[in-house]
Parts: sequence; structure tokens; C-alpha cells
Amino acid sequence: MASVTLKNLSKTFGKTQAVRDLTVDIADGEFFVILGPSGAGKTTTLKSIAGLVDIDGGTVAIDGTDVTNVEPYHRNVAMAFESYALYPQKTVSENLASPLKSGRTGKYTAAQQTERIDQVTTTLGINHLLKRFPRELSNGQRQRVALGRVLVRPADVYLLDEPLSHLDAKLRASMRAELKQLGAMSNTTTVYVTHDYQEALALGDRIAVLREGVLVQIGTPEEIWRRPADTFVARALGQPEINVFDGVVDGGRIRLGDGTFDVPVPADVTASSGDRVRVGLRPCDVHVSETGSLKGSVQLAERLGRNVELTVQIGGEQLIVLASGREGVGEGSPVSMSIADSDVHVFEAGEGDTTRLGAHDKTLEAAQ
Ligand code: ATP
Repeated sequence: MASVTLKNLSKTFGKTQAVRDLTVDIADGEFFVILGPSGAGKTTTLKSIAGLVDIDGGTVAIDGTDVTNVEPYHRNVAMAFESYALYPQKTVSENLASPLKSGRTGKYTAAQQTERIDQVTTTLGINHLLKRFPRELSNGQRQRVALGRVLVRPADVYLLDEPLSHLDAKLRASMRAELKQLGAMSNTTTVYVTHDYQEALALGDRIAVLREGVLVQIGTPEEIWRRPADTFVARALGQPEINVFDGVVDGGRIRLGDGTFDVPVPADVTASSGDRVRVGLRPCDVHVSETGSLKGSVQLAERLGRNVELTVQIGGEQLIVLASGREGVGEGSPVSMSIADSDVHVFEAGEGDTTRLGAHDKTLEAAQ
């Protein structure tokens, strides 16, 4: 168990700045998720904690000790990569036991080894595979064994790089729950990298959102979901993606599209009539309701499992709405909708990604 502190971490590969001036404090025992699209610098951050890349600037401290110049082996971290390296000539059971036999972890008795392996294989649902060789496993099973190899090893910090990426959706969901349990049980500090927002929201005690090597927001899943710091974070979370419209403030309302539909200015936003803003409305927060003041017509209704994704034509814009399917609205029919004031996200006007207006909770200012 240990805290992890990154201070002004920077890493450049040629002309690419993979990580830029990253400062993060990860608490002892925390399950900390790094979320971001491909190329955001997630793996580079993880490797910097492990000591697998030479950083250009900043420091890495584990449990309060500066380990910036300490060899990976002496950092007592265990890292799982997306690619799953296993010994091909060893069985699953032998593969899992080997990290407990080598080096500094060699102090474990046979009974303790069995207990640890048992706990991890049960959690990962691989205890029926112990006698098999890696070549006799599916990709998903191999990935779980590789993750098992990391988790059996007692370490101060677990570093997990997209460890569930090769699993199918159902298995991912159940493994997510199991991993969360394992994290809570072992109480080991875990840094978990993913580009999957659902995984991040489900697993993280806190989430750091990275974009092009820069920390955009840090907070609890609730904070990141309810108060995205900018349109990039808002878009990164949620499927279908959040609707973003240009708007103009008019008294206590914000007129959107051609001006014929509007939403309230949320309580935490200070804006004056005439101000140009951008408004984000999550598809799951817009509710089909006979008394709703948002009036449109359904252009497309697409069933997505239990829900129906509606494309609604409103005020010259297309609004995506996630409906339950019980409302009985079909293509071509008129629809009334409502949204709670607190579900209206307001951002600065402009091109590209723009900043949230109103309360941020614990965003970058608080983190640094
Ligand atoms: P992914 O989700 O695709 O794994 P990531 O967020 O983990 O992405 P990194 O692997 O940290 O991103 O890469 C960040 C940037 O640094 C990318 O632009 C990548 O191309 C670059 N990069 C990473 N490793 C190297 C390397 N060894 N040599 C050159 N460029 C690198």
C-alpha cells in the first residue's frame, strides 16, 4: 500500500509531447482511473510510474519517497499490459505461481501462495483453467491469466493498462464488478488505464481525464459526469454522445437552434441576456413527457436493446434522445420532452473544446 505523487511529469518522444506537466496525487489504497482517447498519454503515464520510460521532467514519488531515479524492480509496483505475456511452456497454474516464487516475493510459503492464487483465480473466473497451457486458451482467457499474474504478486501499487480490452461485453461487465471487489478487498493502490468511460465510471474512486498529454479534469465519477469541465470531457462520457448546441441567453432562458426552443439557465451559471454560449444536453437526461415544453418531431427511432434512440427534429437542430421505448413514439410523430434545470450543461461559446460555465467542483484548480 502506498500513495503515488506525480509532480510536473513530462515526457516527449521526438516531436510528440506524450505527457505535459502532469501533477496528480493518488491516495493510499485509491482505485484511480486514467481515462482518455488513443494517444492521450495514458500508457506513458503508467510507464513513468513503473519506471519503464525515462521522463524528461518532473518527479514520481511512491509512498512519499522520490523514486524518479529508482530502477523499476525496486519500486515495488506490478504492471499489467494490454498485451498478455505468459510463459508458453508453463501451465496457467505455474504461470500464476511464478511471480510469487521470484525475487523479493520469495518469502511466501506454499500455503500462502495457494491462498493468493485461489483468491485471484476465483475473482477472475479462471480456476477451471489451471492445468491448461496458454496455447489452449482464448484471447480473453489469456488476458485474464495475465492480469492474474499481476494481481497475485503483492505490490504497493498495481498499474493496469486496459486489462479488460479483449473480453466480450458481458464478461467485461462482470469482471468490472469483480475487480472493484478485489480492489476494495486488497486495498492496494491501483492505477487503471482505459478509454472506456463506462469502465472508468464503474471502477474509479476518482478519474483523471487526459487529452493530448494534458490533464483536463480530475474528480469522482459523479463530479466528472455531473460537471464536465469542458465539452471534451462532456463528449468523452456517455453513449450516445451528449448533444451540443449553440445558444443565446435571453433572460432566464437560453434560446437554441433557430431560437424556437429553449432551456433554462441553470442556477450556478451567471449570464446576461445576449451572451453566446454552448449548451450540452445528455440524451439520457431528456425525457419524453406529454407536459414537456420542448416540442419536436421524431425523425428516426432506433431500438438499442432495452432503450430506443430517437433522433428528434427541433428548432432546426437534431436532438438525440434516449427513450425507454414505453412512450409509444414512432418515426414521424410529434413528441414533447422535458429536461431538469440541473441537467443543462453550459459552456463558453466558440470552436473546438470550450470550458464549462458555472460550478466545477473539484477540477484542475483544486487538484493543483
Ligand atoms: P492508447 O490508448 O492508444 O494506448 P495512450 O493514451 O496510452 O494511447 P501513449 O501510448 O501514452 O497513449 O502515447 C502518447 C503519445 O506518445 C502518442 O502520440 C504516441 O504515438 C507517442 N508515443 C508513445 N510511445 C512512444 C515511443 N516509444 N516512441 C515514439 N512515440 C511514442
